[in-house]
Amino acid sequence: MAVKKDYYEILGVPRNATKEEIKAAYRRLAMQYHPDRNKSPDAAEKFKEISEAYAVLSDDEKRRIYDMYGHAGLEGRYTPEDIFGGVDFEDIFKDLFSFSEFNRIFDMFFGGRRRPGAREEYYEVYERGEDLTYDLEISLEDVVSGLNTVIEVPRTEVCDLCHGSRAKPGTTPKTCPKCRGTGKIQVSRSSGFTKFIQIFTCDLCHGEGRIIDSPCPRCRGTGKIQRLRKIRIKIPPGVDEGYHLRLAGEGEPSFGRGPPGDLYIIIHIKPHKIFRREGKNIVCEVPISFTWAALGAEVEVPTLEGKTTIRIPPGTQTGDVFRLKGKGLPELGGGRRGDLIVRVRVETPRNLTEKQKKLLLEFARERGEEKNILKS
Ligand SMILES: [Zn+2]
Ligand SMILES: [Zn+2]
Repeated sequence: MAVKKDYYEILGVPRNATKEEIKAAYRRLAMQYHPDRNKSPDAAEKFKEISEAYAVLSDDEKRRIYDMYGHAGLEGRYTPEDIFGGVDFEDIFKDLFSFSEFNRIFDMFFGGRRRPGAREEYYEVYERGEDLTYDLEISLEDVVSGLNTVIEVPRTEVCDLCHGSRAKPGTTPKTCPKCRGTGKIQVSRSSGFTKFIQIFTCDLCHGEGRIIDSPCPRCRGTGKIQRLRKIRIKIPPGVDEGYHLRLAGEGEPSFGRGPPGDLYIIIHIKPHKIFRREGKNIVCEVPISFTWAALGAEVEVPTLEGKTTIRIPPGTQTGDVFRLKGKGLPELGGGRRGDLIVRVRVETPRNLTEKQKKLLLEFARERGEEKNILKS
């Protein structure tokens, strides 16, 4: 590989040159080496070289990196497109070159193959469709098992009657008479030896280059229709609130020639009427009778997969916690499931019968607690 030349040398400026000096040097050299004006075989290469030097030295950050680390520092950080990306060449050359000469410059830097004057089409190639988002509510049970389902996503699609042409089938749009189909109006004026050229978007066709007299009736001349699209999706077990599922290419289509956007499914977990989520664990409260609490019992408790029973020991208090291992939620991507945490609440009996009252009074007497009891 050839050794790259120093950018300051290429532009013929000192290392402490100001931005104005660098720009003036670049403009002078650009006039000299523009391949439409300079017929020597290496003019294009030379023009690219000075433009690269200018792109770096006119950008504070790129110039700082180059001053510190040289070419190697830039190569690690920027692609060739990024190097040229920050420069407004249109602004630098608008008073030096014609529109077609200017287009040739763009072709050189970005490698596009486009007809002179058709700059809009060049950009269209890369215009991606928009991304869509879809909010999906699922239950805690779905978090355990994962979910296979079909969703309906409203999406903009190319009109199937006019195929995006926007004209009524059987009619042909006519070429815009004002811009003759280019979508651009060029206005030039001369001042002394300098020719100023300004380019405007055509105001008759709004840059389209054509005019539609009979719009398509189905899309009302927009070329696009809204349609509900059914998409089968698979949510893995263990997702949490806010989890994103990306479906590449299922977003809005590009209305140029670019790829479609992506669809993002955003997961929300419905509040559960029994369980509360705490990370991988789920928590629920179970009421138990005071006799069970005092004497110990087998108690039925809910889980995400139906009921099960737990043993509570004699003397259980409100707030005591029982842990059912592996009855919580799975982890995304597998691994051990969390636990179900059962918190018991001892319920005091209400609406006692006469017999129950007598039994409880007897119990109180036995415990030496009867003197505090209210007389009914
Ligand atoms: Zn249509
Ligand atoms: Zn026009």
